[in-house]
Amino acid sequence: MKKVNLCVFLLFFTCAIFSQVQKNPESTELWAPVPPVVTPGECTAAPSDAIVLFNGTDLSEWTNEKGEAAGWTLADGCVTVMPGTGSIKTKRGFGDCQLHIEWRAPAAVNGEGQGRGNSGVFLQDRYEVQVLDCYNNRTYSNGQAGSIYKQSIPLVNASKKPGEWQTYDIIYQAPRFSDNGRVAIPARITVLHNGVLIQNNFEIQGPMTFIGLPEYVPHGMKEPLSLQDHGNPVSYRNIWIREL
Ligand code: MG
Repeated sequence: MKKVNLCVFLLFFTCAIFSQVQKNPESTELWAPVPPVVTPGECTAAPSDAIVLFNGTDLSEWTNEKGEAAGWTLADGCVTVMPGTGSIKTKRGFGDCQLHIEWRAPAAVNGEGQGRGNSGVFLQDRYEVQVLDCYNNRTYSNGQAGSIYKQSIPLVNASKKPGEWQTYDIIYQAPRFSDNGRVAIPARITVLHNGVLIQNNFEIQGPMTFIGLPEYVPHGMKEPLSLQDHGNPVSYRNIWIREL
């Protein structure tokens, strides 16, 4: 009999708490943690907590592929690919991040398809968001501007004319690897091209692979950001990153 009474009491007690949760709006308010206050930048300017990787005046955050001073052309507030000198990469490594980068294909149109204003933004030195002049320039869809190269076609073509500045805003989650060297959690990427969503939380299949299918190879949690020398004088400016 006592056992039955206890059960009835517990049931009543649980129902009473539940009904309080139902009636009381404060019971579902969370006051911790408090998100840090961040001052938003004007338009595409770096917010207060961003690491500025290139502000138009110096390449001190960058090296060439051999770890020497980056040999691209620095002029007029931007840096331009010096064809033949190779890609450049950041001295620091990054993992999960929000990246803002502005790029410009040459105003003088030369070549076609993959040969017109080709470069690339490589997250962790491996995973490429394609940079290409895709204004009236047809190429394979998974190789056009804003594609995850050879993996994911952009949702739309938001390209501006050659010679105009364009933006990529990228939200990237780095892959996680298990002890046996296999990928445990693949990388994910969201990309806005000139403010338009073109990649929506795409699961990256592996490093950029020109021939064949991508396959993950384990790497560190933080790896450099790199920009590709594909033989075309593509320019970059206003590069900033927020580590997540
Ligand atoms: Mg490329």
